[in-house]
Amino acid sequence: MTLQRTFIMVKPDGVKRGLIGEIVKRFEQKGFQLLKAELMVIEKEKAELHYMEHKEKPFFGELVDFITSGPVFAMVWEGENIIQVSRLMIGSTSPESAAPGTIRGDFANSKQENIVHGSDSIVSAEREIANLFEPLLTRFSNQNLPYDEQRKT
Ligand code: UDP
Repeated sequence: MTLQRTFIMVKPDGVKRGLIGEIVKRFEQKGFQLLKAELMVIEKEKAELHYMEHKEKPFFGELVDFITSGPVFAMVWEGENIIQVSRLMIGSTSPESAAPGTIRGDFANSKQENIVHGSDSIVSAEREIANLFEPLLTRFSNQNLPYDEQRKT
């Protein structure tokens, strides 16, 4: 049992294209559990924190402008090995390598505007969830309990 939580976000292009339902459906059908979801516009400072690993990259400014350009649908999901599995479901960053059947392979045609974000590690997931949601959701010490049980502890 490797129950994990991850941060999944439908980016502004995905929200504008009406893909929230499609993306939520794929994670539900996979058997994952949605713990939290909110349509929100990310503040510039929080966007910079979210993408801090890319701070020195030439596309950083444009990326922050894009992710703050409209509402995103931010979510916390829980499931077995969800970090690795959700990355497979999302697909590669670039359209030329995102396989058909993945979210990006089926819907994205841009390296930047690629529909959806998913955390790439437990450490990133904790940081990203804490950046945009309340700290309760980042408590992993009792992660073997379903979320409703954790709230009671
Ligand atoms: N990105 C970009 N230009 C690039 C590489 C990445 O605009 O050359 C954006 C793109 O939106 C990507 C995000 O930066 O999803 C984060 O990049 P990362 O390499 O972490 O890709 P991901 O984990 O999202 O596949």
